[in-house]
Amino acid sequence: MAAMPKLHMIQATYGDCMLLEFPDTSVASKKKFWLVDGGPGNQTRSATFKVTNNSLFATLNSTSLNIDRLERVIITHNDRDHTYGAYALISTLKDAKISVTTGGGSEFLKFVSWLNGYTAMNPITGPKKFPIDHIWFNDFNVLKAASFIDEAADKGTGWLFALLRDFTNYYPFDTFPVINDDWAGGPVVMPKPDTVPDFSNIAKITGPTKDQLVTLWTSKKRRMLGVKSGPPPWKQTALEYKKSKEDATAEMPSSIEKWGTDLETATNRLGDPSETNLSSIMFEFSNSGKRILMTGDGDGDTLYSAYNETSPDPFNIIKICHHGSCHNNNIMHTTDGVAIVPREAIQNSVQRFFSTFRAEKYVISSDTLNRTPNPDIETVTYMGSLFASQPNHPVKAVYFTNGMTYKSWRAFYYASTSSTATQNTSIALKVLKHGYVHQSKADF
Ligand SMILES: [Zn+2]
Repeated sequence: MAAMPKLHMIQATYGDCMLLEFPDTSVASKKKFWLVDGGPGNQTRSATFKVTNNSLFATLNSTSLNIDRLERVIITHNDRDHTYGAYALISTLKDAKISVTTGGGSEFLKFVSWLNGYTAMNPITGPKKFPIDHIWFNDFNVLKAASFIDEAADKGTGWLFALLRDFTNYYPFDTFPVINDDWAGGPVVMPKPDTVPDFSNIAKITGPTKDQLVTLWTSKKRRMLGVKSGPPPWKQTALEYKKSKEDATAEMPSSIEKWGTDLETATNRLGDPSETNLSSIMFEFSNSGKRILMTGDGDGDTLYSAYNETSPDPFNIIKICHHGSCHNNNIMHTTDGVAIVPREAIQNSVQRFFSTFRAEKYVISSDTLNRTPNPDIETVTYMGSLFASQPNHPVKAVYFTNGMTYKSWRAFYYASTSSTATQNTSIALKVLKHGYVHQSKADF
């Protein structure tokens, strides 16, 4: 048997969808599953590409994993490329009732399996347990629920709550997930409040903090009201560093000069301005001596404080932030696809990410169909050059979920000089998925 835990990457077009598999220590030979994000569900991307509504349910059932319930569904943040597929999964379970009553075939057995314990469908006595035990979700409504802010109008948990409530009208379960019940109804934050259960032996939360979430909501609200927002306060370090040096202009990289020497603009370009992305639940999953860093669409900067600005031991796997966007991995975006490593304080930040958060395997939820394909070419180029310059870096492979463009392959291999090319060619670039529909997974 392959070593546990496993991270299964489910191809989710331009979204994220992952499954963590690990032993259930309370029942011999049983396994537990955490779903991390649901992908974009039935979002249509183009005339030639469509993900059907029930594809995630079908995908989970098509594996040999015998999944019949999910201990946790973790929706990292409220963007559709992470949420809609999770909603669709729950909708599919509910709609399966219809196919059952109209004589649905093989779906019936899968459905009963997922609803194991539901007496009306399955003559097993005992509590009727909803097939998902716990849901984590960091939208901004959970800040209001915890009285951290006065008002919020996020549709995320609102939609999810309505969906779950609709489900109970079909099936009166005895146990039912309450969103963020693990977190006393509040946000999933770092550090974990004393009032919530201890996950430290499985999941160490690495971001965000409660204060960061409140700041992000304030920023989002201001922007919705038309007030220009600057970068979040913890992203201003580089800007303030520059402003503290009158002669800093001489140190500016040429790409910043292209945009003018507006330091704020430059700093904003460096960081991801999306409040929802930055609210992502980030966590280190550890089990059986293996460690996997899950990053959502969050930001590398948040991770530094989670690890007290020190470099943790290499991980087995790191899920690269935000589909490999250069914004969230501290590589500057350029119009010509050339990786720019900003100097001075910014440079420290850039060099730090892949040097600080080392792993044997990096995975990128990538989408070559998007008009601006993820990962950003700058990220691939930078990874290639950094790994080539660090012969002792533990990296063995970089995985992509949806194929890699020829441009990306080239960028990775040609990022190094001829003297270091051997290092890069020794790092496997692996494509986890070819094709356009959910049907693939990858084990680690
Ligand atoms: Zn995303």
